[in-house]
Amino acid sequence: MPMTTRQRFRGITDWFQQNMPVAESELQYQNPYQLLVSVILSAQCTDKRVNMTTPALFDRFPTPQAMADADPEEIYPYIRSISYPNNKAKNLSGMARMLCEEFGGAVPEDIEQLQRLPGVGRKTANVVGIVAFGKRAMPVDTHVFRVADRLGLSTGAKTPLQTEMQLTEGFPPEVLPLAHHWLILHGRYVCTARKPHCEACGLTPWCRYYATQQKTAPQGNAPAEPPIRHARKRAAAAPRKK
Ligand code: SF4
Repeated sequence: MPMTTRQRFRGITDWFQQNMPVAESELQYQNPYQLLVSVILSAQCTDKRVNMTTPALFDRFPTPQAMADADPEEIYPYIRSISYPNNKAKNLSGMARMLCEEFGGAVPEDIEQLQRLPGVGRKTANVVGIVAFGKRAMPVDTHVFRVADRLGLSTGAKTPLQTEMQLTEGFPPEVLPLAHHWLILHGRYVCTARKPHCEACGLTPWCRYYATQQKTAPQGNAPAEPPIRHARKRAAAAPRKK
């Protein structure tokens, strides 16, 4: 009998809870302001690159007020190595000014209010909401979108919002923030965009893509072990022995 979506969600949730009980953002930050700046900078850019950039940026602009007092031209040199530095410098300046003028210099907890800030779309607001304030939301980035589709947690989703809705419905609410990080890390290190490393993945029993591949693959060819260089890959790759 084919697996139901409910069974798939249940199996994948159980597997991650057992094998990746701790999953967190890889961005480095000290407070909600720094997190918000880092998430804005991370659009179309790697967390690693953002983490290389933000120490000097936060030294120069340690508070929303310090950044609000600066023009985009003053912010630009600190983020020039990040993608789209011109736009992001403008957004950071505008975001800091709005924080100071409308929110008393504090990052709002409300997802709708967050989305009013320049440079903050639905995904960024949801990330800040779950990471800084423990909201139950499911930000969908390129990794979450791809992995959810391959696993079969989303079906026919054409937009991140459609994926978000399906994942929000499928995962238990209390698991949502963790599930976001599960799917991101799994997409970054195992189920990668260029090639999913199914041979090193512990989610094969529930994965729709894997099942489809098995039906069409020639029999008897054992896949080679992929090069795994990142420790997190290992953590996500195989179930723990009991
Ligand atoms: S089995 Fe393959 S396609 Fe499915 S989640 Fe794992 S790596 Fe991705």
